[in-house]
Amino acid sequence: MIYLDHAATTFPKPKEVVEAVSECLSVWGGNPGRGSHRLSLEAAERIYAAREEAAAFFDCPDPLRVVFTPGATYSINLALKGLLNYGDHLLCSNLEHNAVLRPLERLRKEGRITYGVFCAYDPDRPLSAEEICKNIEQKIKRNTRMVICTHASNICSATLPIEAIGSLCRKRGILFCVDAAQSAGRIPLSVTRMKIDALCLPGHKGLLGPAGCGALILGKGILPKPLVEGGSGYRSLLPDMPVELPERCEAGTLPVPAIAGLCAGLEVVKRIGVEAIEKKETELTEALKARLVQVPGLKLYAPEQKGGVLLFSSDQRPATEIGEELNARGFCVRTGFHCAALAHKTLRTPQGGAVRVSPGYGNTIEEISSLADAIEEILHA
Ligand code: PLP
Repeated sequence: MIYLDHAATTFPKPKEVVEAVSECLSVWGGNPGRGSHRLSLEAAERIYAAREEAAAFFDCPDPLRVVFTPGATYSINLALKGLLNYGDHLLCSNLEHNAVLRPLERLRKEGRITYGVFCAYDPDRPLSAEEICKNIEQKIKRNTRMVICTHASNICSATLPIEAIGSLCRKRGILFCVDAAQSAGRIPLSVTRMKIDALCLPGHKGLLGPAGCGALILGKGILPKPLVEGGSGYRSLLPDMPVELPERCEAGTLPVPAIAGLCAGLEVVKRIGVEAIEKKETELTEALKARLVQVPGLKLYAPEQKGGVLLFSSDQRPATEIGEELNARGFCVRTGFHCAALAHKTLRTPQGGAVRVSPGYGNTIEEISSLADAIEEILHA
């Protein structure tokens, strides 16, 4: 198989990640904070080292502000439900994933919040960072408490000007929450410089870890209410969750093997370099784009955007059929709506959705070339 679905999850994982998970499972993986023995203490030390690694990677000065979660979706839910109050108003972009939109919809339907959508991407003309910020400013209300947005779209290579939006939010006293599911490990990110109050991360995509853990990195003084209550291995006599981070937001046993894998993944990304990963993935999608623009009846979405994700449809065959044909030829891509109905509406994809190709650092130009050959064959068979 030629795996070109790295926006869904990166695969295969580096051998360092596999070894770290295996070592945790067989050598040192006690339950951190739930034992007075060596294996529990070693696990606690390793978890703290993973917090330090993640904090340094995302330029957060305090490792205790790294909350481990089951993934980006959980982190987003924790940030929204833990930081918002009744009557708050929020803004999100027109490229959001359901991981943002569905919790927002639920909170709205329960009468707890209202929200508006700002234009971060216009298929008819490129928007500058200033224009995007202006679009946000125009929608800010008296009770706007948070801006939440994706850093990089999961269906095309559009990215949002996070640093400019962060400055705007700080100036206006509004919380800034970033869904970095597609950018973490692929685009440089700094919680401090970008003035991010809540950074939501999955471990299993660009950070090369296993599925099962992610993180929420919080800005100084940001203290969400817990989403789930339970044991934290800390201050056990208290009836309530501890006030301190990260224990306040980490009820129950942590996914220790996945965190061990995530820590190893972060080290691999650091060694290769985020910029080198971004460059390679962009070269691969640009090479594919150069071939696909020549295919009659094939439409590329957001073709002017450069990055690691390419979306297309064809007026000859529905996306699902193209995906099935590609699968039969050994190519892994994703088709349909990619959990992002609003982003598809923004890009004006057809009924039935589109085909997403998302190469990873390990893919080659030859693989992209054979994918392009296969697409040409499928659409003109
Ligand atoms: N946000 C975006 C932009 C995504 O692409 C995804 C997953 O594809 C998520 C959030 C949710 O990530 P997870 O399923 O790992 O929780």
